Amino acid sequence: MTGAAPSRFRASILTLYPEMFPGPLGASLAGRALAEGLWSLEAHDIRAHATSKHRNVDDTPAGGGPGMVMRADVLGRAIDAVAPPGDTRPRLFMSPRGRPLDQRRVRALVEGEGVVILCGRFEGVDERVIEGRSLEEVSIGDYVLSGGELAAMVLVDAVVRLLPGVMGATESGTEESFESGLLEYPHYTRPREWEGRTIPEVLLSGDHAAIARWRRAEAERITRLRRPDLLDR
Ligand code: SAH
Repeated sequence: MTGAAPSRFRASILTLYPEMFPGPLGASLAGRALAEGLWSLEAHDIRAHATSKHRNVDDTPAGGGPGMVMRADVLGRAIDAVAPPGDTRPRLFMSPRGRPLDQRRVRALVEGEGVVILCGRFEGVDERVIEGRSLEEVSIGDYVLSGGELAAMVLVDAVVRLLPGVMGATESGTEESFESGLLEYPHYTRPREWEGRTIPEVLLSGDHAAIARWRRAEAERITRLRRPDLLDR
């Protein structure tokens, strides 16, 4: 542990499936940090804010078409209950229409006090609640999930591992993929030979400058091959 002051990063999730949390966020690195109080997680049930007899949270789309749309009035009340005026945390709506999540946005969120995350279901949410509550739409990639919960977990996991004290100093995260605008170099460990494959000689040389040069060259080679778009940025 680094001895850094405990973070007060607070993640508040608005969902129709609060039982999905903490889910994977309760295991391994994020789970240990949660148990240690390095961050906190609340999953709020959107349905608690439905007022109709049958507790409807969704309705048919204006203009027709398939599926159901989550209601602005229910979502507005749910957001106001979880993030009252004065709560300065970013309000995110997980959405395939959003700006694709990247390590830069993750780093920025790490600096803040937390996040409020709305998870969509069905066809999505009434556009007016996105505008009226200034929600920032965030996508985790160009594919469609059945709901925002897994996307929210992806975002929270990426943030939490970078909070002070969560990763040990030896795994500080600064050399990882995207941090330098490159994908990461390849890793090897024991055994020295496996199924006839050996570890690159330079990594066994003890020459730290040569190792650093080799890693940098490999990172550039792999990035050029797989993600040339990263080099253009
Ligand atoms: N009709 C919508 C998709 C709805 S999927 C469309 O075409 O854009 C249901 C919910 O899953 C969404 O409201 C969103 O909260 C979540 N979701 C689906 N794909 C996602 C993605 N790539 N990134 C983030 N959230 C996503």
